Formats: sequence, C-alpha cells, structure tokens
Amino acid sequence: MLGAKEVLLAEPRGFCAGVDRAIEIVERALAKFGAPIYVRHEIVHNTFVVNDLKAKGAIFIEDLAEVPPGATLVFSAHGVSKAVQAEAKARGFTVFDATCPLVTKVHVEVAKLAKEGYEFLMIGHKGHPEVEGTMGQLSEGIHLVEDEADVARVQPRQTEKLAVVTQTTLSVDDAAGITAAIRARFPQVREPKQQDICYATQNRQDAVKVLAPQVDLLIVVGSPTSSNSNRLRELAARLGTPAYMVDNAGELDEQWFEGVARVGLTAGASAPEVLVNEVIARIRQLGAVAVRKMDGIEETVKFPLPKGLKIDAATGLEIEVRKRPETGA
Ligand code: SF4
Repeated sequence: MLGAKEVLLAEPRGFCAGVDRAIEIVERALAKFGAPIYVRHEIVHNTFVVNDLKAKGAIFIEDLAEVPPGATLVFSAHGVSKAVQAEAKARGFTVFDATCPLVTKVHVEVAKLAKEGYEFLMIGHKGHPEVEGTMGQLSEGIHLVEDEADVARVQPRQTEKLAVVTQTTLSVDDAAGITAAIRARFPQVREPKQQDICYATQNRQDAVKVLAPQVDLLIVVGSPTSSNSNRLRELAARLGTPAYMVDNAGELDEQWFEGVARVGLTAGASAPEVLVNEVIARIRQLGAVAVRKMDGIEETVKFPLPKGLKIDAATGLEIEVRKRPETGA
C-alpha cells in the first residue's frame, strides 16, 4: 500500500467526436472493403488504437508511394495538404477523408481568406501533421509561429491583410499569449470569429484546471505524439501539481504514488476509456479505495460519417460495426 486513497476522474476526458469518427471510418472501411485498408499517418495519435486497427487489417503509411494501385486509403484525423489530396487523386485511390470536421473548418477559412488576398500566421507546433496539412492548403503566404519570439521575427510580405489561424489542440493559455503578441505587433490582424482551438481541447483543459488543485498527483493517459494529451500534463504541472503522461497502465511508476492521498486521472482526446480503466485498476492495486467522477460538461458533439460508409451499397443496410469498449470507472 503506497498511500493513494482516492482517484478523481476528470470530466470530460478521452475520446472526442473527431477521434470517434476517424476510428469508425477505418473500421467501416475494413468492414465494407475488407483488409487491407491503407491509412496515411496514425489515424489518431494513440498507440493502442493504431495497434488495434493494425490487427484488424489497417496498414499505416506516411508516403503515398507505399500504397498499391487500386487501394482504399484513409486520411488521418489531422488532415492533409492539397498536394497529398492531389497525389491520392492522381494515383486513383478510393479515398475516405477522416480529417476532423473542425480541422476542415480551418482549411476552409484559410482558402476563403486567401482568395481575398490574406496572408496568415499559423500558431502551432512545427512538424505536427495538422500543421503540415493546414499550411499545405496554400503554396505560399502562411507562416508558422510557435512562440512569441517567432512573432517578433516573422516577416509577412504585407500586413494590411493578415489573419491568424491555430492548430486545434494547443494550450488555450499559450495560444492566447501568442495571439496577444501578434495583436501587439500587427494591430490590424484578423482573428478567427470563433477560436480554432476545438471544444474537446478546451473542455479537457478546463477540467484539468478544476481537478489539478484538488489532487496530489495527476496522471494523463495519452501517447507521446498526442498534442492535446501533452498539453494536459503541462497544464497540471504549471498549476503546481506533479503530472505524468502514460501510454498504458504498465508505464505507471509505483514511486509516483508514495505519500499521495488523491490521484487525478484524465485522458487525451485520442485515448480510449479501456486504457483509463486499466490505469484505475493498477492504481487500486497501489492502494486506491475509491474512484469518484468530477462534475463536468457532458459532450454531445457527433460528426457524420463520409458518404459511402454510412450504408452498405449492396444491401442498402447500415453496416454494423462492433462497438469499442466504453466508459465506466
Ligand atoms: S481533438 Fe478536436 S480537432 Fe482533434 S479530432 Fe478531436 S475534436 Fe477534432
């Protein structure tokens, strides 16, 4: 017994509507067309999800040259550049686009404003596939700013028509600081009517802001590549609560729990609840006697599936796909 007495579960946590939809697209494509289904990049940034889909027949690739002619290809939830879309079309693949509709919304805004002559500052993390996809909506005139130092350095060709867009999974507080620095340097800059950071990122960060001060330790379930999961861990640490991110229960370190009475637990938007339940089971082994859910926002967002995957063309029936394990503490 190491001392952890109670687990407090963040609400909301785990899967968002975009992740749910993206996984369902791959599962339905597998059910309808059979294996293999090719997926460009990890469908969502979670090791468990990717391995599960691999076992069912998905093949994850980074380069479309790895996809054989005539194959079915799914774009990941992070979205792709115009060049990738064009290459997939030119190679004649059957494509299902699992880009989260909230990422697509940013792409549409970029295309619309670019036609009006705007240049863009994109707040995001270099190398993240969503950033590459959004920046790749244009061949020029979109500049990445990762922090306030980048804002001081950036040199747009003109400043009369300048707009800000952001990656959807940033730290809300960091993005606000960088946007303020942009506003200070370019007062006429156009900001999104509704911020680009998505509801799921916002809600999970808000929940951690409430939870972190109530616990001695916060565990985030998420994979190292998951942007929104990393932001949850950082947020708790900034609030003064020791915080660790784990991909699965096996990564929990007993020493973290020494002298800890209350453990907070959350999960990034790409982490399935089955992993949260395994983490809870492990923390129980380490001494937790109670699990309590925080009060929090109930999310009801659901995005429609793309055409061609809602109904089986042969039978006219909705394809039944086995439901993934769901919540429960
Ligand atoms: S985290 Fe936000 S942008 Fe990303 S898939 Fe989920 S809802 Fe969409």
